[in-house]
This record gives sequence, C-alpha cells and structure tokens, in this order.
Amino acid sequence: MREQGADAAPLVVGAEQALVGPASQWSILFIGEDGQYLAQLKQSIPKSTLSQIKLEQAENLENAFSLLDTSDFDVVIIDLALRQKGEGPALQAVVATYPEVAIIVLSEFYDEAIALDALRQGAQEYLTKGGLPGDTLLTTVRYAIHRKHWEQRLVELSQYDQLTGLPNRILFQDRLQQALRDAARSNALLCMIFIDLDRFKDINETLGHAVGDLLLQVVSTRLRACVRSGDTVGRLGGDEFGVITSDLGTIAEAGYLARRIIEALNEPFECAGDKIHCTASLGITLHPIDEGDSAQLLKNSALALYRAKDTGRNRFQFYDSAMNRSVQTRKNVETQIRRALDLDQFTLHYQPNVDSRTGKVVGSEALIRWESPERGLVLPGEFIPIAEECGLIVPIGEWVLRKACAQASAWRDSGRAPSRVAVNLSPLQFRRPDFANTVISILDESGLDPRDLELEITENVVMADFKTTEYSLQALYDHGVRLVIDDFGTGYSSLTYLKRFPVYKLKIDRSFISEVNVNNEDAAIANAIIKMAHSLNLRVIGEGVETAEQMEFLKQRQCDEYQGFLFAKPLPPETFESWLLDFQPLT
Ligand code: C2E
Ligand code: MG
Ligand code: MG
Repeated sequence: MREQGADAAPLVVGAEQALVGPASQWSILFIGEDGQYLAQLKQSIPKSTLSQIKLEQAENLENAFSLLDTSDFDVVIIDLALRQKGEGPALQAVVATYPEVAIIVLSEFYDEAIALDALRQGAQEYLTKGGLPGDTLLTTVRYAIHRKHWEQRLVELSQYDQLTGLPNRILFQDRLQQALRDAARSNALLCMIFIDLDRFKDINETLGHAVGDLLLQVVSTRLRACVRSGDTVGRLGGDEFGVITSDLGTIAEAGYLARRIIEALNEPFECAGDKIHCTASLGITLHPIDEGDSAQLLKNSALALYRAKDTGRNRFQFYDSAMNRSVQTRKNVETQIRRALDLDQFTLHYQPNVDSRTGKVVGSEALIRWESPERGLVLPGEFIPIAEECGLIVPIGEWVLRKACAQASAWRDSGRAPSRVAVNLSPLQFRRPDFANTVISILDESGLDPRDLELEITENVVMADFKTTEYSLQALYDHGVRLVIDDFGTGYSSLTYLKRFPVYKLKIDRSFISEVNVNNEDAAIANAIIKMAHSLNLRVIGEGVETAEQMEFLKQRQCDEYQGFLFAKPLPPETFESWLLDFQPLT
C-alpha cells in the first residue's frame, strides 16, 4: 500500500511546501473497540512523539461523530471489524460526513479486495493488525494526510473556478442534479437562473482583462449576497453564472430574486477611480413546472436568457416551451442565410426620398431583400435579427454597402436616378474598430462622392456605444459621409448627445407618422422632432408617409423630406428607374 501512496503524491505538480507537519503535532482518532490494538499502536510510536501526539479512541460511530464534531483530527483510523458488529459501513459514513479528514482503514488480515474497496470509497491508506514497526505506522499516517491534502486540492481545481472561488460548471451541474433529487422528495419548487453579463466583451476589450477579472469577482460576491446560504451560485463559463435555489414558495419569488440580482448588478462598480456600469440578462427555468432533467433545465434557462438578450438586455425572462420550437426554426434560418450569402441571393430595393419644397426625388434608401428559391421574397425583419445574432450581419452589411455605393455611382453616371443613397447599418458593424476604414475604402472603390452616402443608425446604438463609436462617427463625418438617425423618437436620445454628434439628419419613426392626423400625441411628437431638428441645424425626414394628409401635416411644419408608400414602395433598381420616368411631383 505504501508504494501506492508514494506514487500518487508526486503526480501532482509543484508540491508547494511541506504539507504534513511533524508527527508530534498530529491528532489521530481510532474508531474501534479493539483496546489491545490501540495499546499495540501506542507502543509502536516512539515515546518522545507519543507524549505530544493526540491519540483518542471512539468505540462506536456515534462517539466518533461527536468527537469529530468537537475537535479537529488529521487522520482517522477505522477498524473494519466495527462493521461486523452491526455498525453499518463506518467508512462510508465518515467519508460522507467529514470530507476533510484523512482515513486509514484497518483490517485483521491483508486482503487485497478489501484494501482496494476501501481506497475506492475514499480512504487514503490501509493497514493490517499484524505486528507493525513504529516508523512504518508513522509513515503510513504521513502518507494518508499528504494524500488527502492533494485529493482535496484536485477536487478544488476540478470543481471550483479559480478566479471567483465559485463552483464551476461541472460542480454546478452536480448540485443541480442533487437539487432535483431533493425537490422530487420534498415536492418543492426549484429555480435555476442563467445569468450573462451584457457587453462584458466590450469591457474586457476596452478596459483590459485585469478589470474584466475584477468585475467577475465583484459579480460573484454580489450574486452570493443575493441568495440564501443553502443556494448555489456557480460560474458556468466566461461571463456566465448560474443560481440554483430550492424551496421557493411561489413562482413570484423567483421573479423577486431575479429582480434583486438585476438591481445588485446594476450598481456601478468602482475600478481605479472609474465607475463601470455593467448590466446582466437572466433566463429562468422552474422545476417541476418546466419538465426535464438537469441538462434540460440548463438548456431551458439558456434559451430564456437569449430571449432576454433579444428583447433588450438588463432584464429577466422565464422559460416557456415555445422557445424550443423557435430555436429550431432559428437554426434553420441561420444555415439558410449563410447559404444565401454564398449563393448571392440577396438584392437591394430602393425607396425614394422626396424633397418637400420641390416635390422632387432627391435620393433613395437601399433596403435589403432575400430572394429565396424556397420562400420567395423575404423581408429583412425575418432574417436581419438572426443575422445579427450569429454575426453574419457583418459580411451581409458590407455586401449591402458595396452594392448600394456601386448602384448610386452608376446612377450618377447614367443620370437615371439621383445618386444619393441611404444604407442601414447594424450596431454590430458599427462597433467594429475598422468600420470607418471599410466604408471609406468601399467609397473609393465605387467612386461615389462621400456626400452622396447616408448611413442610417438607430438612436439607441449611438447612445449606448458612444465611447466605442465616437471615433468612427467622427472619421466618417470628416470624410464627408452623412449620418442619419433612423427610427427617431423610439429610443432614448439625449439632446446633449445629439448636439455633440456629427449627425446630419433625423428620420422620424413611422409609428408617429401613421397616426399623425388622428392622434394628438403623435402629432405633438412629430411636431417637436421637426422643431428640435431645425433648431439644432439638422435636416429631418418623415418615413412611412402613406396618405396625402400625412404629407400635408409634415409639409406645414417644414419637414424637409418624405419617404413612404404614398410615393413608392421599395423597388428593384430597374423598376425604380422606370417609376421615376413617370413620377409627377405631388404638391
Ligand atoms: P427602416 O430602415 O426603418 O426602413 C423602413 C421600412 O419601412 C422598410 O421596411 C420599408 O419598406 C418600410 N416602409 C417604407 N415606407 C412605408 C410606408 O409608407 N408604410 C409602411 N407600412 N412601411 C413603409 P423593410 O424594407 O421591411 O425594412 C425593415 C427594416 O429592416 C428597416 O427599417 C431596417 O431597419 C432593416 N433593414 C433593411 N435593410 C437593411 C440592411 O441592408 N441592413 C440592415 N442592417 N438593416 C436593414
Ligand atoms: Mg432605415
Ligand atoms: Mg426606420
């Protein structure tokens, strides 16, 4: 047996220091009735050591437990004979109850099967009662303690996250399984929450990994403070955390907990004098309301989490079974989008922008369409969100820019249509550090005058990512490209930001235009946007103009341009050209 112990220890890299103190400091508990053996044991230890060593006996398991509860022992020697006296499997009970103590099992005669079984069950060493020289005994104890230490260290390494000290994914899954078993017994409501920090990647990239690490540690402390002591908080991966709470009384309590977590994480976090804001999105699944094993619960909560991200971040979402279905269709669409890009199945349609003073068409907005052989003409609402989620929007967006610039440049040469074109951008494109350069080189390629290119971005994007996007915005502005804020009025622009940004034009969201003649509030908002735009020296365009009355409303308030079905739907380029030939300015 000793050979095994000796082999096992050096397996572990870098033994840091002498882990086992001198024998005189040990405390040993002998669990067994065999007083004779105990006497023999004492005899085998050198007198000088024995006088300092703490060596106690417990004649049964009950006494052993009360001794182990009240004082620390380095090692327990369990006499396997106890088992035969109806004590039950003493070894198992000690391993399960006192996982930190090293264990040596003792049997009458050497029996390899028993020895192996004992090690498998969690003992560190094995002894037989046959005459034992003192130094061998001490060595065995030393090995047992040493080995126990490393076993525990390995468990820590394999089950706990080193950065935060939280259970890692493996242990978390274990705990989830255990919680499920307990819940089945007690009929309790079990809740698993999947937490993912919003924009953690940005923080990591812009402020550095040291700050990112600190943030993760703060998050783990805050999460732990949100739950009760019996609950589990684990780190599931990069910036993903999980919470398991059992014994919930009601579903609402899961909601309260989720809200508590969101609020706790919303508190700004101080780092080197800077205040960092970090939000999180949460997905919640409840057992037994949502069926399935632990793997299924994890998956459910992840699906709910993605939905929470999709619908605005910094919020929580309960799982519901419809999510599973929509994920399947999503996956299919993702594959199809990838193929559509390869097979060149995207096209651009152009919708005219009309000048309100002259009534003439002064430009157009390029709107993407997918000509799918299976599904026919697919509108962007059906695939852009998915393309954004899987990152495909970046190559698609580049394709759009290239195509629109080439078309506009061709129109400038042929004179068949105005050369001014507006292109919609996804936040993902915009956040790329090389974005401005990409646009500029596409402009160069096409020969289009930068002033003929308008880039449409939604206001939330600009506001949320001010720091990362400011550079790109300025570079594009300096190059002559014009920035338009799309869907204006639906987000949260602050006037200060608008003033600071090199914005050229505001596009009033369609939702305000559609009821501008019947809804006083919408009318007031549209009116205010036009006034504000003009006082900030910005141009303003109304989109979604469908009726003459809507146009009239905008015209009276000196809105500079219109776009909408009243003039034309988005059209393929050739159709756009022929439509222009027939177009009569409306006055
Ligand atoms: P958007 O930029 O606000 O584009 C205007 C949308 O309103 C277009 O829908 C257009 O067809 C529709 N529309 C225009 N006039 C009217 C009208 O009078 N009445 C009504 N009911 N609708 C009108 P579409 O083409 O389906 O595009 C939807 C959205 O998809 C766009 O909203 C834009 O956010 C996005 N999108 C379109 N093309 C691209 C693209 O190339 N890249 C990116 N990232 N997004 C795009
Ligand atoms: Mg647009
Ligand atoms: Mg819009």
